[in-house]
Amino acid sequence: MSCIFCRIAAGEIPSPRVLETPDLIAIRDIAPQAPAHLLVIPRRHVESLASLEDASLGGKLLEGVREAARLAGLAEYRLIANTGASAGQTVFHLHFHVLGGRPLGALG
Ligand code: AMP
Repeated sequence: MSCIFCRIAAGEIPSPRVLETPDLIAIRDIAPQAPAHLLVIPRRHVESLASLEDASLGGKLLEGVREAARLAGLAEYRLIANTGASAGQTVFHLHFHVLGGRPLGALG
């Protein structure tokens, strides 16, 4: 298994979980861009949001974002899904970034 997020989801690479459900995990980003920087990751390998065909899984991921943010104590946060290399995606396993804990300002 070469996908790093598949390996984390399978427990092959240790990464403390903020949240885990049968469908997803939420972990802390290894290189945080804000005081709180979570990643919400489906257990199933899906390359990006553009290739997500399961609307039910999409809904579960959004619910996971809300719950992970709540557990991290974030009342306000930014949600990002880099989709494709030119958008900054570097890990080609769908994930949502949840950023908060400081004022984030406007998107540049
Ligand atoms: P993206 O550039 O949108 O594909 O985001 C990938 C994110 O995964 C980056 O913010 C990385 O810091 C993060 N990342 C890569 N490897 C790990 C890891 N082992 N544990 C936690 N976060 C990771």
